[in-house]
Amino acid sequence: MHVQTLHVAFDDTDSRTGRCTTHLAFKVVEHLKKEEGAKLVDYPLLIRLNPNIPWKTRGNGAVCLRLQVQDAGRVIDHIRQAVEEGSAIGSGANPGVAFLQSDSVPAELQKFSALAMCDVLSRQMAEKVAKAAGVQYSTFGNGQGLVGSLGALGCLLDGDHTYELIAYRKPENCGLPRVVDKERVIKFSADTYPNTFNNYDRNHGRVLITPHGADPVFFGVRGESPEVVASALPALQPLEEELDGWTIFRSNQGTNMHLQNEIRVAGAKAYTAGHVKCRVSGKPYAIEGGHVIFTVEQDDGAEMPAAVYEPTGLAKVAIKLEAGDLIEIGVGVRKGTTKHPKILNVEYLSVLELAPAFDVLNPVCKMCGKRMKSEGRNKGYQCDRCKHRDVNAKKIFVPREREIKTGLYIPTPKAHRHLTKPLQRYGIEKSS
Ligand code: ATP
Repeated sequence: MHVQTLHVAFDDTDSRTGRCTTHLAFKVVEHLKKEEGAKLVDYPLLIRLNPNIPWKTRGNGAVCLRLQVQDAGRVIDHIRQAVEEGSAIGSGANPGVAFLQSDSVPAELQKFSALAMCDVLSRQMAEKVAKAAGVQYSTFGNGQGLVGSLGALGCLLDGDHTYELIAYRKPENCGLPRVVDKERVIKFSADTYPNTFNNYDRNHGRVLITPHGADPVFFGVRGESPEVVASALPALQPLEEELDGWTIFRSNQGTNMHLQNEIRVAGAKAYTAGHVKCRVSGKPYAIEGGHVIFTVEQDDGAEMPAAVYEPTGLAKVAIKLEAGDLIEIGVGVRKGTTKHPKILNVEYLSVLELAPAFDVLNPVCKMCGKRMKSEGRNKGYQCDRCKHRDVNAKKIFVPREREIKTGLYIPTPKAHRHLTKPLQRYGIEKSS
C-alpha cells in the first residue's frame, strides 16, 4: 500500500455544555499516530473564522490535519466515527467533517477559506465548493459545521501565523477549578516576551491562559514558535493535577487575518469583518456603560455610526477624536434592528491624521476689553459692561492642542478576540 496525503478538517463538534473541537483533534491524532502509523506533514491547524458569526459557540475555531497515511479509507472511517461520537450532537453541535485526498489544496477551496474569515457563508455554498474541489464530507445535525470545516481545510496559513500549545485535563478533573500559580505565569510571560502573548493582562492583573468552563482545556499558551510555546509545559505544569496530554497547533490567532479586506460602508453587510479608512464626521459621545459612539464618513460620502466598547479600553481614546480626523478602524458590522441602525463595532483604532481643533470664543470689546455677547445670528455683538455694539465683530478661533496622538490603539489583552493581533506582534509578523 502506498503512502497518501490526506487533509482532514472538522468543526462544530462542541456546544456550550462542554467538549471542544481541539480536544477531539488531540484524541484523533493520538489514535492515528499509534494505530495507523499516520504522519502529520504540518502541525495540526487551529483556524479561527469570522468572529462575528452569530451562531458560533465561542471562538469560531475549526481544526485541520494534514496527514500522510497508509490506508486513507480506514482513516476516513475512523475520523468520521470519532466526529460523530465525539460531538455534542443534539445539544447544540452541528458537526461537519471534510476530507481531501490530494497533494495540493485547490484554489477554490483557498478562496472559500479566505471568505470564511470575514464573510457569512451558507452551507449550500460550502457543498458546491466541496463538490467542485473533490472534497468528501459528512455532516450531522443541521450540517452548518461544513462551512467551518472547509474554511479550515482551505487555509494554508502560508503567511503570518502563530502557535498555541493546548494542554488537556484528564476526564475526571474536568469541571474542577483550575489551579494555576499567577506568579509563575507572570515570570513565564516576562521570560519569553515578546515571543509569547496574552498570557497575562497586566492592566487588570488577570491570568489569560486558562479558560473558565467545564471543557477539557487546562491551559493554552500562544506564541511565535513551537519551541517557545512548548517551554510553557515545564514552566507552568500544575502540581495539583496530572494532565492528559497536549498538542501544539499552528494558528491564525493573533494575526488580524479577519480584518484584511477593506469594507465599503455604503454596502456593508451585517456580520462581516474588515477595515475601514474614513474621517470622523461627528463629535464622539459616551453612552451608558461608558461606550463611545461617533459617525464616520468614507471618501464617497457614505456615513455610518461606529461604536467603541468600554471593556476594550479604547473608549477613552475614541472620546477624544474630533470631526475631520482621518482614521483606520478594524471592524465587525453589527446588524441593524428596528431600534438601532447598522453599526461598526471597532476592534482597533489607528489615528492617521489629526484635524486641527479650535476653541471658539466671542470677540473682545474694543472699548473696554471685556468679552462681548452675541446679539443673535448675523446681528453682531454687544458688550455687557460698556454697551458698545459692533455689528462686524466675529467669533475668534483659538487653536487647541489635541489630547491624543496619531498612532495605533488596540484593546487591552483581556478584551482581545482570538484573532486580535497583540501590539507586540506588530513588526514581527511572518511572511511564509
Ligand atoms: P469553539 O471555539 O469552542 O470551537 P466555536 O465558536 O468554534 O466553538 P462552533 O460550534 O464551531 O463554534 O460553531 C460555529 C459555526 O459557524 C459552525 O457551524 C461553522 O461551520 C459556522 N461558521 C464558521 N464560519 C462561518 C462563516 N464565515 N459563515 C457561516 N458560518 C460559519
